[in-house]
Amino acid sequence: MARTARFFLLLTLALCSPCLAIELSQDFDSGSLNVAQSTVSSTTVNLVGRKTWTSSPYASYYRWVYFEASGVQGLTPTFNISNTYFLGSLGGHRYVYSYDRENWQFFDHGTIASSTYRFYNNTPFTQDDVYIAYSLPYPLSRTEEHMSRVAASPFVAPTASDLGSLVIGHSGGGTDDLGRTISPHDLYGYTISDPGATGEKFKVMLAGGNHSCETMGNHALEGMIDFLLSDDPIAAGLRDVADFYVYPQVNPDGRVAGYYRGTPQNPSKDYNRYWNNPTGFTDMTAVRNAMLLDTGGDIDYLFDFHGMFGPWSRPDYFDVVPGDLGSDFALALAEWEPDILETASAAEPGMLRDWALSQYGLKAEHAYTAEFGARPGNLEPELDAIGANYARALYRTLVPVPEPAVIVYVLTAAVAWFFFAGSRRA
Ligand SMILES: [Zn+2]
Repeated sequence: MARTARFFLLLTLALCSPCLAIELSQDFDSGSLNVAQSTVSSTTVNLVGRKTWTSSPYASYYRWVYFEASGVQGLTPTFNISNTYFLGSLGGHRYVYSYDRENWQFFDHGTIASSTYRFYNNTPFTQDDVYIAYSLPYPLSRTEEHMSRVAASPFVAPTASDLGSLVIGHSGGGTDDLGRTISPHDLYGYTISDPGATGEKFKVMLAGGNHSCETMGNHALEGMIDFLLSDDPIAAGLRDVADFYVYPQVNPDGRVAGYYRGTPQNPSKDYNRYWNNPTGFTDMTAVRNAMLLDTGGDIDYLFDFHGMFGPWSRPDYFDVVPGDLGSDFALALAEWEPDILETASAAEPGMLRDWALSQYGLKAEHAYTAEFGARPGNLEPELDAIGANYARALYRTLVPVPEPAVIVYVLTAAVAWFFFAGSRRA
């Protein structure tokens, strides 16, 4: 090869090495990207979301996105993804990125140009491999790590359906939309309470992971659980008056496979529409049976933790059935979280909330579907704090602050008793 030709070949390779270097992958716990249809051209990355919920009105939509981009050090790529086929609203949304999958940051920019949502940073990536997601991931491995910490608490105990190690059953596994084998996973359930507390106690159920991609709900739930296990006096008070029945990840296969509503076993079905008849759902059947056995089929409260996908003009909220609007819990939560709205929504019979309220379900007095947004500003500390405030509000609900009249009555009675006892001693 002539010297000049060799020079130009090297120059071309040098100039092109960054564009050739960016590679995309998603083959890890809760990863989700249609890598085969995504393309890279220089530093422009055109992403295609996986359309994993095959129910007919939604089969052409994607929602959850989580992938690894390699070969990005020193580059400032622009990522494009369909706005049209996103199920939700990307207006004002920011994707997040992390080099270690623990510390996440929002991208500097996220803009919509008609059919395309585009996100990018002002400065180049500082490491070669970066993880990028629609919002804070909560892979199944995080549930498993959290379980190992939970299991060490003196306030955690197995439920009646325990098979050992706080496992109450197993999911069904299956083959996902990419042809991958998804192995069955452990389903967890446990109680949080003060084993020394006696007398009748409230029964409160906490559930998470119902919808595969609603990771924000799992973060808030983790915040609530960690608070309940803490030394905080309110947490101790809650353990004194209530037994908590916790099912932290009721749909592990959907989460691990990177699905957004269905599961590999039931890709066309919305996981939160079959709690009244879970035929064909190995996971839901096992969790539902455990919920019934563990609680005796009669609870006071259910909190089902979910996540939402915009628009970000809508605050975080929790759904109640219309008859429960203005509940004591809503009033209490407003003291801690004034921006979170209580909203009325008639539940559908297959929702966990509705089944929990029903006479053939858990006969719950109150049931809430708590929704948390991946809005800019909501990272892990914020979601943890919201979860803790759900617990504080519940304490205020279960152990109301006495009315002033009651305090006056009690004080008067105490003073009267003092003088009465004193006169008897004299
Ligand atoms: Zn949901």
